[in-house]
Amino acid sequence: MNTDTKASTLDARKGSGEANLRLPTRYDQLEVEAALQKKWEELNTYRFDRDDRARPTYSIDTPPPYPSGEFHMGNALNWCYFDFVARYKRMRGFNVHFPQGWDCHGLPTEVRAERTYNIKKREVSVDKFREICVKLTTEYIEKMKMAMQSMGYSIDWSLEYRTMDPDYYKLTQLSFLELLKRGFLYRGEHPVNWCPRCETAIAEAEVEYIHSEGTLIDIRFSTDKGSLIVATSRPELIPACVALAVNPTDARYVNFVGSEAVVPVVNRRVPILTDELVDATFGSGVVMICTFGDKTDVLWQHKHSLPVVKILDSQGRLTEEAGKYAGLSTSKAREAIVRDLKEASQVGGSKPLSREIGTCWRCHTPVEILSAPQWFMRTKDMTDQIIEQTNKVTWVPDFSKNRMIDWAKSLDWDWVISRQRSFGTPIPVWHCRQCGAILPAEKEWLPVDPRSQSPQAASCASCGSHEFVGDADVMDTWMDSSITCAVHAGWPEKLTEFERLFPADLQPNGLDIIRTWDYYLMARHLAMFGKPPYKTVLVNGMVRGADGRMMHKSYGNYVEVTEAVKKYGADSVRQWAAAGGSTGYDIPYRWADVEYGRKFLTKLWNAARLILSSLQDYDPDLPAPELDLLDKWLLSKLNNLVRASTDAFENFQFSVATDSARNFTWHDLCDQYLEAAKYRLYSDNREGAESRRAAQYTLFRTLDTVLKLLAPICPHIADALYSELWRDHLKPRSIHANAWPQVNEQLIDDESEKQGSTLVRLLSEIRRMKSDKRLSMKAPIKKLKIKAGEEAVKILSRHIDAICQIAVVQNVEIMQIKPATGKPESEREPEFQLAAEF
Ligand SMILES: [Zn+2]
Ligand SMILES: [Zn+2]
Repeated sequence: MNTDTKASTLDARKGSGEANLRLPTRYDQLEVEAALQKKWEELNTYRFDRDDRARPTYSIDTPPPYPSGEFHMGNALNWCYFDFVARYKRMRGFNVHFPQGWDCHGLPTEVRAERTYNIKKREVSVDKFREICVKLTTEYIEKMKMAMQSMGYSIDWSLEYRTMDPDYYKLTQLSFLELLKRGFLYRGEHPVNWCPRCETAIAEAEVEYIHSEGTLIDIRFSTDKGSLIVATSRPELIPACVALAVNPTDARYVNFVGSEAVVPVVNRRVPILTDELVDATFGSGVVMICTFGDKTDVLWQHKHSLPVVKILDSQGRLTEEAGKYAGLSTSKAREAIVRDLKEASQVGGSKPLSREIGTCWRCHTPVEILSAPQWFMRTKDMTDQIIEQTNKVTWVPDFSKNRMIDWAKSLDWDWVISRQRSFGTPIPVWHCRQCGAILPAEKEWLPVDPRSQSPQAASCASCGSHEFVGDADVMDTWMDSSITCAVHAGWPEKLTEFERLFPADLQPNGLDIIRTWDYYLMARHLAMFGKPPYKTVLVNGMVRGADGRMMHKSYGNYVEVTEAVKKYGADSVRQWAAAGGSTGYDIPYRWADVEYGRKFLTKLWNAARLILSSLQDYDPDLPAPELDLLDKWLLSKLNNLVRASTDAFENFQFSVATDSARNFTWHDLCDQYLEAAKYRLYSDNREGAESRRAAQYTLFRTLDTVLKLLAPICPHIADALYSELWRDHLKPRSIHANAWPQVNEQLIDDESEKQGSTLVRLLSEIRRMKSDKRLSMKAPIKKLKIKAGEEAVKILSRHIDAICQIAVVQNVEIMQIKPATGKPESEREPEFQLAAEF
């Protein structure tokens, strides 16, 4: 028999406080949640109090999402984690700083703007194009904000910011100028990763490696000492070949080293070198060095002082350097060159080759390596410092720290921060038309767009010229979003505020952006302030679809947050996020988990109605009454729960906190205690008055505490029930403005827990027996014989009255059975043997 039906039969019969109860029978979750969200907003429940100097602050540096217009389950999980912490810390007495921003700039918006308005970026002015992008971004932000609000996140919206707003990007520009002054930025011509489709430089963090099937082709090079075979998967780069190389220990080619080879197609003579990085077992053991086929080529070009042949243009087409192949795409050039070499009998065998290739994270086009003037931040030199500081920060879970360290170690190049795009923060610099010297903007000129604005009253420091060209590039969007910790803390104006809020107490983000967000924040803030920007990094895993694959629209396993909230309400989705998996690990999205969340809410609602209706005449200010065994049992378990839950929140173990609170509520409170306490709550005899008050006392404390423990996870139902619990006793403050429960050590009582558990187990056996016989729980038992072990007999003998009252038994006989020692657990007798006469 399920307890929900029991609760409603009880509701129907008890009558007493029902009339006064304002809670409807059915929990209309969506209505209650929407009403509370509105109330919180009106009351500024989550506002950071700047004037409050008494409470310690707790600042959360939340990642500003890219405004795509969609808020998916992965985002929901992210934000749930931030919100669990924010709500818990608020109840622990912290003045919580929980801002929300939007990382607006970037190529995806440019592409959408072109599509939506059917224009080409180059057809309209920079200002006009920017205006269109801003409009589109604003619309997307509104959509995402609505989804966030429907989840009940306790964001302080008065701290909202958008990186595309002049107020914000002025700070991005200011930090650029500061870093330039301190020597952390430089402009130089170095090979960089380049996306030929997006036509821009991209950072190493933006290159995604994928598996790709290619062909390894043997090409014959003639040399002074006879011909050599070179195996290559990219014959289109042959015109950029500047040397051949072999391993110095490779005996096959000793005679060739030091002589020259002729590059087919372009007939250029190039040296034959040795280098220990050449893998003698790959292909023929001879490699061609092309500038630039890959990162090793970049290394070799530098090490052996080889010339640079710029073979590709910004769109990935072959240049004049490729002679007759100029203007062809790489794939067309590959076909043409192989065909010509075949005709010249310079192609040997070929075989399939499976390899890793780098692609653009935005558009998945294979990246090329190009050399062009760019702006860089000197991050390579900071590697040791970054690792040292990373080790000082707390990472949750601990393994995520290694992601950061491995990434920092793996970087080969400085961070390229300029992008050849439109919708981004302009680089606040002009170039002298005469001598090329750089003129950085003055602080007072910011925000500034050198693409359309001239420098104010300035002449070139080197040559005195007054003619300048604005820098045409914009910054990597990570330049905008990697100063958030400082911006939130009030940099550069509010320096007293800065000391309070910097570094951020919490840096929460997904596993996937450790190498960008966490890394860039660390590098930027170390360079600017000499301090790491965060104290603790809280990492969440990714959300997988029900099929175990990453959630993706094209897989058909994608779920919109708004869809889930509409079906099951925010508190149910939030329970999935909390309990769906361990912190830091990937979690699957399962509708069943969300459904379970809603069942729990229904259970809690019904239990709370039952409790509240029995508390109508209860006065919490009266001194504590004498408690029965089960009262002590429940309160002891409750206080152990408070301890476990506090530990779990302190350690960001949201699944532990949620599961323990739900299990206690469902089983100990509803299934056991409420069932056993009913007869006390509704007794109308005078002798029962004290016992009734003890049950009321226990239920009042328990409901109050459980709601507080659930408040970070299920903020809506917790607040709704809490205001009802306290409405006749206190000004109805939101539960979220209340203190987290303390462990009451005096109520932790191992002996009562042990005795209470024995009694509770017996009572459920009796209930099961009645239920098996299809009898009502109130059906009287004329005679009950209980056989149990020695210890249980001792305990039960002390509580015969309670057994009779609770289970409606007229006569009880308790006997001892011999302990079944030596048998494996599975063969042991049940704890109790019951025989009943009805
Ligand atoms: Zn791209
Ligand atoms: Zn000059």
